[in-house]
Amino acid sequence: MDIRTIGVVGAGQMGNGIAHVCALAGYDVVLTDVSADALAAARATIERNMARQVEKGRVPEADRDAALARITGTGTLTDLASADLVIEAATEKEAIKHAIFAELVPALGPDTILTSNTSSISITRLAAATDRPERFMGFHFMNPVPVMQLVELIRGIATSDETYEACRGVVDRLNKTAAVAEDYPAFIVNRVLIPMINEACYTLYEGVGNVASIDKALKLGANHPMGPLELADFIGLDTCLAIMNVLHDGLADTKYRPCPLLVKYVEAGWLGRKAGRGFYDYRGEGDPVPTR
Ligand code: NAD
Repeated sequence: MDIRTIGVVGAGQMGNGIAHVCALAGYDVVLTDVSADALAAARATIERNMARQVEKGRVPEADRDAALARITGTGTLTDLASADLVIEAATEKEAIKHAIFAELVPALGPDTILTSNTSSISITRLAAATDRPERFMGFHFMNPVPVMQLVELIRGIATSDETYEACRGVVDRLNKTAAVAEDYPAFIVNRVLIPMINEACYTLYEGVGNVASIDKALKLGANHPMGPLELADFIGLDTCLAIMNVLHDGLADTKYRPCPLLVKYVEAGWLGRKAGRGFYDYRGEGDPVPTR
């Protein structure tokens, strides 16, 4: 299947990165968001991030200019009607995603492939609510999209081989690498990564180590580029907790119970970097200060 135009729904952290890499790879991109501010901010972020790639000599100036010219922003969801592939990257709420597909599907051609960048919602369930479960799959980018190499491709129970091959072709053209996952809670990356972060929270909760010693131990002892608590702050503690709840509910195994200390940080609004405070306090001028 020939994919030329990619529609991206949601112009937040992930949506702007997805539009960025698709446009640089030569696809026409139609980017939409309910928020005009989010659309404007996405355009500014894409321009800033591409300018950095030009400065570093990774992208020629002419390619940057051509890529920016290929991105169209719109507040109207049905402007994605001409897309051959849609990547939905709106807020992680199932009702929002269902409402988007319900409005979008009648405007699409019968061959358009629909995908979702969801971190945790069942692909099979999202697909079942559309008219094309065989042309639906999970297209899960990692954050930040322009930097991270992996895309998880998640097949719902009905996803056809043709849909999978078309999506795999897009991942290749983006110069990224696909890992294929079956549709079970949190797929592969978050199924392994988030319980490790949750275990680091238990290690802190039980007093086995403090924030600094736990992060140092994993950085130097397991060669991780970031410690697990530093990484949790980067991802967002609310997101980590939401994914633990998806694992706990979806697999019904007590080994996935969220650490009470993680719950307490979220209840306090200490959500990590985005809130200025999480396992570290980022509000000062100097290096982040451990909170325990
Ligand atoms: P975000 O909050 O930065 O952006 C979400 C955007 O969706 C917002 O701009 C919001 O205005 C928009 N939106 C909400 N309702 C909409 C609607 N009806 N139509 C169009 N746009 C709408 O969130 P994000 O971090 O970019 O996450 C987006 C998706 O990507 C989620 O499904 C999330 O699980 C997934 N994801 C996130 C990460 C991450 O690290 N943040 C990583 C992989 C996947």
